[in-house]
Order: sequence, then C-alpha cells, then structure tokens
Amino acid sequence: GAAVRPGSQLGELELRGISRAYGAHTALHPLDLTIRGGEFVALLGPSGCGKTTALNSLAGLLPLTAGEIVLDGRRIDTLPPEKRGFGMVFQNYALFPHLTVRANVAFGLKMRGVGKAETVRRVDAVLALVHLTEQAHKHPGQLSGGQQQRVAIARAIVMEPPLVLMDEPLSNLDAALRLEMRSEIRRIHQEFGLTTLYVTHDQEEALSLADRLVVLHEGRVSQIGTPADLYENPANTHVAAFMGYRNLLPLTVTGADARGATASGRGLTVRGAGSGAGKLTPGQSVMVAVRPEDLRIAETDEQALGEAVAEVVEYHGRVLHVEAVTREGDRLHLTSSGQVRPGDVLSVAVDTERALFFPQAAVPDPA
Ligand code: ATP
Repeated sequence: GAAVRPGSQLGELELRGISRAYGAHTALHPLDLTIRGGEFVALLGPSGCGKTTALNSLAGLLPLTAGEIVLDGRRIDTLPPEKRGFGMVFQNYALFPHLTVRANVAFGLKMRGVGKAETVRRVDAVLALVHLTEQAHKHPGQLSGGQQQRVAIARAIVMEPPLVLMDEPLSNLDAALRLEMRSEIRRIHQEFGLTTLYVTHDQEEALSLADRLVVLHEGRVSQIGTPADLYENPANTHVAAFMGYRNLLPLTVTGADARGATASGRGLTVRGAGSGAGKLTPGQSVMVAVRPEDLRIAETDEQALGEAVAEVVEYHGRVLHVEAVTREGDRLHLTSSGQVRPGDVLSVAVDTERALFFPQAAVPDPA
C-alpha cells in the first residue's frame, strides 16, 4: 500500500499521445498511459526502443513533437524541467564530491529556501529510510557504489516530489549490489509510496520492481500489464522474448481443433494448448514460444518435439540448463533434472499447456 504523505499531491500522471521525432525518424510513437498515484511503472525494452526519449520528454529535457502531459489534473508539458518538480535518479548519479552525504541530500532543500530545522528533520528522516544515517558525515568518495546510489535516491525523495523518474539507476553496479539495491528500491517505494516511472532494459528488474510494465518496441507500446499478465500472456513475440521465452520456433500449423494445435517444420513438431492455439488454421505460419523450463528431455513413452544434440550444459542448482542444436541448426534452450553431457543426443518434449502460438501475420514488423 502506498502511504500518501500529508499535504502532498498524489502524483497521478497522464500521458496523452506523447510522441517525439528526430527529423524524419519517429523515436516515440504516440504513447497513452496513466500512472496512478503511488504506482510503480517500469518502461521496458531493448536498446534504442525509445525509453530514454520518453523519459527525457517527460522530464522536459527534450521537447515533445505532439501530445500532452498532465500531472494531478494540471498540464505540465509547457513547463521547464525544474518547474515540473519530478525527482530524478539516473545511472550517473553525479553527487557533489566535496559535500558530505548529509549536505548532498540537503542541497535541494537549501536551494528551495527550506528552513534549517525543517531541513534537518527531512534529511534525517530520508537518511534513515535509505539506511545511511551512519554514513551521513562521509563524502561520496568514501562510499560504496550502492551507498552512493542510495544517496542519489535520498537526494531525489527528500524533495517529496510528486513523481520520481529513474533511468537505469542500477546499471553501473555489479551483479550482487544490483540485486541488493533492487530490493532497497522496492522497500523505499513501499515505505514512501512515491509514484515512480522506472526505465530499464532488464526484464528481471522490471518484473521484480514494478506494479505494471510498459514494453516498448521500436518506439511503440508492445504491451502494458502487470508482471503476471506479461509473463503468462505476452501479446507478441517481442514481449515473449523479453519475458524469457527463449525458444521461438518458426513453424507451420498442421492441425488445429478446440483442444489445441499442432505445428511442425524444421524437423520439429509441437502440440500445444496454450493461449492462441484454438484460433489457428492449418497451413498458417506461426511462431511457437516456449520457455526453457517448459522444454525438457522426453519420457520414453512421450511424444517428442524432436531431437537435438546437447552443446552447452550449465549447472543451476536443482536443474541443468541445456542448449542443444537440432539437425536443422535451430538452438533449443531446455532444462533437465537428470544428467546431461555435451554431445548427448536428446529427445526433447514440450509442456503442451505452456507453448504459445503467435500467428506470423499478427506480428507486424515495421522495419
Ligand atoms: P538505450 O537503452 O540504448 O538508451 P533507448 O531505448 O533509451 O536506448 P532512445 O535513446 O530513446 O532509446 O533512442 C530511441 C531512438 O531514437 C533510437 O533509434 C535512436 O537512435 C534515436 N535517437 C535518440 N536520440 C537521437 C538524437 N538526438 N537524434 C537522432 N536520433 C536519436
């Protein structure tokens, strides 16, 4: 639950058809999105999909080509960046090196002319929230990367902004610290209840942090939904690929009825009953999407998808992650609870309930 701070705004943000072009190139096609007060929304997509363009347009660092931005019922896209009042946490957090942690966090309040007693009170509260009370007297150079990142977050939220924009704030941190900061950000968000828009290309980060995800592909929204929506029912192959469906097999439908569909090609046959399977017709081209954990070594009496030779075998605790190559040269990603060695010929089966079918015609490729 989001805690609404007394006297503060809700931070409900409405994007009405905002778009941005660089000359003839449209980097962001008209985007409509409402972010509720206290909500955590992640903007997710691969490099070049328009995430930074969207965020910078919101922040006012980049003019819009079209559209309106409305914050708590008030239009703000005509205001300069500093008047929009957003908190910002970017990957280069640019702390003042000559100031202490406390002074870094207090800086914005001082600029705004907030009184000394109130500044001390607010800075203390925020430092405690990000677990930096003990480090308050230090300079940024004496802090770890994660601590510096927390100073950057503290500096943004001490202003009690209606909305915080975060642009890949964890990308400069090593893997362990990234995980730690991820739960820190989630915790801080829950305790403070700030409306947050978080840009990332890392789907795990987005899935674990956000209430809702907006997946962008080449400047257009591919899908908007909760982590579970996107994970269970990706709208297209772009979203599926992002959500961990590492097996995308171009096949042709050979049979379809109310119980599911069969598709084959490239030496493989998939019988599937997952979403979309009921609406297919024989002869249609489909992309079949399967997660590694739904692809496994076939039981002896089971209908196999096909055969493949194990090439890379990785140990992941209870299961092995296996990359295997079919006779046609397609690469399959699967899991195995039994022993597999590189070079083994595997008979591969798919969990039929979980194979998704995407008709090719329904995947427009503007390129
Ligand atoms: P990344 O994760 O790599 O930062 P991104 O999703 O943030 O990528 P953007 O930086 O928003 O993507 O870029 C979107 C598209 O707009 C890209 O095709 C990019 O080449 C183009 N683009 C970005 N900035 C400019 C610019 N100043 N002039 C021309 N084209 C630009």
